Amino acid sequence: MKKIAAVLTSQSGHWVGDGFPVRSLFSYDREAQDNSPFLLFDYAGPYNFPPAAAPRGVGQHPHRGFETVTIAYEGEVAHRDSTGGGGIIAPGDVQWMTAAGGIIHEEFHSPAYTKTGGPFRMVQLWVNLPARHKMAKAGYQGIASADIPVVELPGGTARVIAGAFGEAKGPARTFSPINLWDVRLTAGAEVTLDLPEGHTALLAVLSGHVTVDGTGAGEAEIIRFAREGSQARVRADGDSVLLVMTGEPLGEPVVGYGPFVMTSEAEIRQAIADFNSGRFGSA
Ligand code: MN
Repeated sequence: MKKIAAVLTSQSGHWVGDGFPVRSLFSYDREAQDNSPFLLFDYAGPYNFPPAAAPRGVGQHPHRGFETVTIAYEGEVAHRDSTGGGGIIAPGDVQWMTAAGGIIHEEFHSPAYTKTGGPFRMVQLWVNLPARHKMAKAGYQGIASADIPVVELPGGTARVIAGAFGEAKGPARTFSPINLWDVRLTAGAEVTLDLPEGHTALLAVLSGHVTVDGTGAGEAEIIRFAREGSQARVRADGDSVLLVMTGEPLGEPVVGYGPFVMTSEAEIRQAIADFNSGRFGSA
């Protein structure tokens, strides 16, 4: 069994643009090595937006050196980026954007959701890239809900977004070994999760409450496991929605400045210079 290393809670709430009321459950400016390869976890909502005339969100901005993974639970987001990638992600869908050498994108509520308003809940997870891939070509994977395999569990389900869960394989292509599972448990369910030995393993509670090895975690809390051991027994104390992330630690320096995460100050200065001279393109 894996031991629990820490329980992470939201340090602060803030708005990203006018469309995303987020709680950051972790960020690369603290414990970056403990969470590697994961850099940042923003939980947007739950929030209820009234109908509006103009889409709320965040306009064109850059990223370099990592990937952003957006998972929609409620509400809809429309995305457009400088690779020509784009589309609408609706509940159940996942957008896996590889910023790598540089991307410009915008993230707004979809036109349809803007009109109706309603409940809104999303996760944006930043996944670091190994140094040798940080300047790779930018890319975009739009992953539809229908393409994500669902594994039945005793008292729940696991949707396999990336990596594997038993025999089921997730559709996302990743640059380093990663598992990403959307796990739903009904109250009273108890499941054993196989979390690879040596991986960073994080269990985020988005709603509900779970107990693992005598430690409880509720909404907007993340259990971080020790790297040793390979299993965790999770009990759902109520109906719960969990996001389970595991990944091989990269073991490389993490030097970040806002939307750029590289391995040295010199690379950050280069990213700023490249962005200022228009070398990231436009969305
Ligand atoms: Mn962004």
